[in-house]
Amino acid sequence: MSGLYARESRSVSKMAHLRFFPQAVVGGSGAYLTGDDGRTLLDFAASWGAASLGHAHPAIREAVNRALSDQAGASYLSTANEPCVLLAEKLLSLVPERARGRVWFGHSGSDANETVARMVVAATGRPRILAFEGAYHGGTVGSMAISGHPAQQGTRAAGLTLVPYPNSYAAGSPEAAKDAALADIEKLFATEVPPQEVAAFFIEPIQSDGGMLVPPDGFFQAVEALCRKHGILIVSDEVKVGLGRSGRFNAFEHCGIEPDIVVFGKGLGGGLPISAVVGPEAIMNHAVAFSLQTVHGNPVCAAAALAVLQTIEHDHLVTHAERTGAMLREALDRLSTRHPLIGNVRGRGLALGVELVTDRASREPAARQTALTVYRAFQLGLVLYYVGINSNVLEFTPALILTESQALEGAAILDEALADVAGGRVDERLLVDFAGW
Ligand SMILES: *Cc1c(COP(=O)(O)O)cnc(C)c1O
Repeated sequence: MSGLYARESRSVSKMAHLRFFPQAVVGGSGAYLTGDDGRTLLDFAASWGAASLGHAHPAIREAVNRALSDQAGASYLSTANEPCVLLAEKLLSLVPERARGRVWFGHSGSDANETVARMVVAATGRPRILAFEGAYHGGTVGSMAISGHPAQQGTRAAGLTLVPYPNSYAAGSPEAAKDAALADIEKLFATEVPPQEVAAFFIEPIQSDGGMLVPPDGFFQAVEALCRKHGILIVSDEVKVGLGRSGRFNAFEHCGIEPDIVVFGKGLGGGLPISAVVGPEAIMNHAVAFSLQTVHGNPVCAAAALAVLQTIEHDHLVTHAERTGAMLREALDRLSTRHPLIGNVRGRGLALGVELVTDRASREPAARQTALTVYRAFQLGLVLYYVGINSNVLEFTPALILTESQALEGAAILDEALADVAGGRVDERLLVDFAGW
């Protein structure tokens, strides 16, 4: 264990910890981090996707420097500032027509989703919200209230109804998963959830923290048809898988739907805290002073976000993510032919998941082996976390600038880590302080 990691435990609270191994870093560049022990680590997590352009990207450094050297205040609450206006104009150009109204800025996916949840109920007068079991929409009281992830220690909203997210692997086929999930929603509408009381349906176009679940073809089109029929707003939470990561700019584009409200976060700031909600004018302008925090819309974070969006466009990072993702996916598929622990490889672009099972026939989750695998990968130089309601899905959300050779380098490390875990060469006692989630 490194010196910095131990020192941290004597001064920093654990309340925000989600730790998988004793990682302590002192720097980073591109897809690599520098450990305080001098090791170079290949980063396949990018801080849960937040470091969308990798570490120390020149475009972000330049934008932040410029914004700070002639600083247009520190907030948009009581004054307009140029970076926020430019960013809003840019975001409006990136969403479908029906969402092209106004933009709200926050600090995180959590405050954004919380704002949307309050706003849709207030603006429509409908008290209910639908979301998916396994969904992670945030870690504040209001965003946990509309989430469905079992690891959360918060209370759900009274008006919330959770429905199962279609899981093609567990159900045996995409068709079976789709039919079952749609039947659930239709049954609810016919019984305890009158659809005319539902303000909005929060969706994730890939359910990331729930296990990197890719929805079956046609599923969200059917959900969209139901929502249109009953006047229910569709909120697409693009916080982790949006902004090019999936191989399309918006992840919902894979589903062939047009949401009413789009939520951006994580990678938007490229490592700085900023989120955005984009939606129709009538809803986004429901009331003044409705949802605000003092340094919301600060020009420094907005300038960083604008640089992120410009870089994604200028460097063709959406196509790049699609290509590098396909390459990484193929490498992971090859690993699955040699490692019986791998039950399923899935995802889109650079949002990939590998589900580990103890037995391919029964699909029994291999949670312990998953925790050991990420620990061993870290020892071998690869940073990778896991997700899933059963804690058994390795998650790949590297920076969009990942190169094909880096993708292969990471896959080779994972190959070795999986072999060591399957061979019983990783000491289980390493996990004592690392419960993960
Ligand atoms: C991480 C995440 C959030 C919450 O974002 P924070 O920045 O942690 O507040 C919301 N939705 C999804 C899909 C996420 O992955």
